[in-house]
Amino acid sequence: MIDLDGLEVGGYSLGGFASCLDVPSLKLAVDVGVCIDRVVSRNFILITHAHADHLGALVQHAAQRGLRRMKPATYFLPPGIQDEVEAYLTCWRKLDGGALLANLVTLSPGETYPLRADLSIRPFRTRHRVVSQGYLMERSKKRLADQYQGLSGDEIRELREQGVDVGTTTTSLALAVTGDTRLDAVLSQPEVLSAERLVLECTFMDDAIDVEGARSRGHVHLYEIAEAAEAGLFTGKALLLNHVSPRHSKAEALNQMKKHLPSDVLARTQLMLGAVN
Ligand SMILES: [Zn+2]
Repeated sequence: MIDLDGLEVGGYSLGGFASCLDVPSLKLAVDVGVCIDRVVSRNFILITHAHADHLGALVQHAAQRGLRRMKPATYFLPPGIQDEVEAYLTCWRKLDGGALLANLVTLSPGETYPLRADLSIRPFRTRHRVVSQGYLMERSKKRLADQYQGLSGDEIRELREQGVDVGTTTTSLALAVTGDTRLDAVLSQPEVLSAERLVLECTFMDDAIDVEGARSRGHVHLYEIAEAAEAGLFTGKALLLNHVSPRHSKAEALNQMKKHLPSDVLARTQLMLGAVN
């Protein structure tokens, strides 16, 4: 697993081949381009877009849940594709003969959906070759309100018994995951950049495909990330680059990161390429 400032992520990531980002502590995964054993138990799958390397294993995920007698997972979709995903499932049900149960939920950028009392998700706009979105994950924590700090346990219990709400709720954007996108769409959203941890696609990393080439394909180039990093735009605690093109080896990718990212950002940046268990 990769430790993003106290939040572990794993799964699989190779641009154009397969993406599945597992976030065990939030009990969810982003995209299901490949069905990984540990992700079968995730009840919530957040789909960034419908390219095959991000959505292609949804059927396998649903089938595995059925075989293991688990309740259907909820798959969150960007707007406008639910009918097609339903049709794809209908087609597979005929081929497979299984129930392939799936709870499909369309969620639009800006809408908040509570997954649990302490966790909600909110899609944000991205810009790719098909309809797409990233996801913000907001955690909330209840703690003793400032005005009751310093009171003894007995005093607090007494206040509670009198029906006083001694708690206050603080929220934090624990994680943002872009999925496939052009970088300009991400940089124009301060809320996304303010997340404590950012998982950012970085498909191209050298001169073979230049910045314009990356943009025209709806992807991010490392040189653009370096420029934004120089400008101080990545203020979070941790940055994870994923979705690297198979044209780059892991050693090459790490080398390019070292060569181009400013040292303060490099120190907070990690790479996810291939399988991470
Ligand atoms: Zn894509």
